[in-house]
Amino acid sequence: MRSRFAVPVFACSLAFVANAQFRPGLAEVPSLLKTGFESISTKDGKEYLGYLAGPECEGRGTGEPGFEKAANYVAAHFKKLGLKSVMPDGSYFQYNDFWRVRTDPKSLAMTIGSKTVAAGDIGVLSSGKVDKSAEAVLLVLGKEAPEKLDDAVAAQLKGKIVFVVGTANRGVRLALIDAEATVTVSEKVATPGWTGRASDPGTGGGNGRLSIRREALSNAVGRAIYQPNAIPAMVTELGKVTLKASTQSEKIKVMNVVAKLEGSDPTLKEEYIGIGAHLDHLGNRNGTIYWGADDDGSGSTGVMQVAKALATNPVKPKRSVLFMAFYGEEMGLLGSAYLANNSPVNLDNMVAELQMDMIGRDSYGAQNGDPKRIDKLEENADTMRLVGSKRISTELDRILLEANNAVGFKFKYDGEDVYTRSDHYNFARKGIPIAFFFCGFTPDYHQPTDTVDKINFDKIANTAKLVYLTTHALGDYKGRLPKDVKN
Ligand SMILES: [Zn+2]
Repeated sequence: MRSRFAVPVFACSLAFVANAQFRPGLAEVPSLLKTGFESISTKDGKEYLGYLAGPECEGRGTGEPGFEKAANYVAAHFKKLGLKSVMPDGSYFQYNDFWRVRTDPKSLAMTIGSKTVAAGDIGVLSSGKVDKSAEAVLLVLGKEAPEKLDDAVAAQLKGKIVFVVGTANRGVRLALIDAEATVTVSEKVATPGWTGRASDPGTGGGNGRLSIRREALSNAVGRAIYQPNAIPAMVTELGKVTLKASTQSEKIKVMNVVAKLEGSDPTLKEEYIGIGAHLDHLGNRNGTIYWGADDDGSGSTGVMQVAKALATNPVKPKRSVLFMAFYGEEMGLLGSAYLANNSPVNLDNMVAELQMDMIGRDSYGAQNGDPKRIDKLEENADTMRLVGSKRISTELDRILLEANNAVGFKFKYDGEDVYTRSDHYNFARKGIPIAFFFCGFTPDYHQPTDTVDKINFDKIANTAKLVYLTTHALGDYKGRLPKDVKN
């Protein structure tokens, strides 16, 4: 669905070119807010994001050293700005227990008949416990992957450990449901990677799935294993097979980074505007770095820029501002859930939460995987999706639109299907009015190709400017925002 703010009559390419420029808003920034507003620069943005999405931080996977480096970097920035701690230990870190979990590489074991497969030839497709022993068969699918299996072929897989060569389409996967286990046969095998859990699974947890290197299987059965062209599918006996794997878990240190800028009013400073982004991304997965420049290095950069602007401006908002950089968003909004349920400040006094998650790209391609919603790059240099801003308090949306007069975004309101998909949701659930700034999807979403060189730093700076002005407006707002929307 297209935004009601998009202008569909720009059909000629000249108009596209003109439209691609970001036109600053026409409204003047109030003179008392100018110092902070003008402190927000693309130069800072490049410096901050260059570090957060650079080689030091290795994609900021929760529980990985790169995440801790990113957390220290943001905390050092808060300290330099003179922000205050809200934690009992006087730090900027809210720690929580967390476990990193993987299939223990030392536990991997496989025998085929009387042959033992070398551990290095066994791969892990999904981590978790495996303990199987059964007759096995080899299912070879043709190069032109069949859509389904004949009933006679499918019957031979029941209760067996099935080694699968070739692409298993949905119909084939349905036939494999009755198998005792499946083992994927591939040219290379992946070493076990760490994932995060909020509780300790011990040596169990989940159903692991293994793979084997094709050459190793060939050696074990004493014949070449290959995919012939001519057949849809073929089953041969492999004899008795055992598969074993157990999980390994380690308690690790994770933390939200939290700091406050104290409000200027002696009474209202007990109330807060929350400004959040998730600091984590997917990290280092088996040696592949998922940089997460847009997701959500951009939002973390935005938080740092807004913090600098608010701390630099001589006039502060009357209410306090709570800056939050969360861990574990990519694992299910874990850091924000922990903060919202164990808040270092009274959440009843949080007036609104503004979340920046993915604010650094001009969206293009299918949005949220929907082939009917295709964004065009050249139409999105100056757009921002405003998600959830009318869900609890329509006044919040009005304040944002007013602040935007000095910034100049074209807002799209078609991103509501991602309403539950970032940290703001944990605040919205508690009835706190939220707004989620989100630039939309690109094909680099959650890929190793989400890199700094593709970032539109004007977009991050403009979002930071908008959040800066909005925070001042909310900080000085008379009374509390009316929660006029009944959910
Ligand atoms: Zn993400």
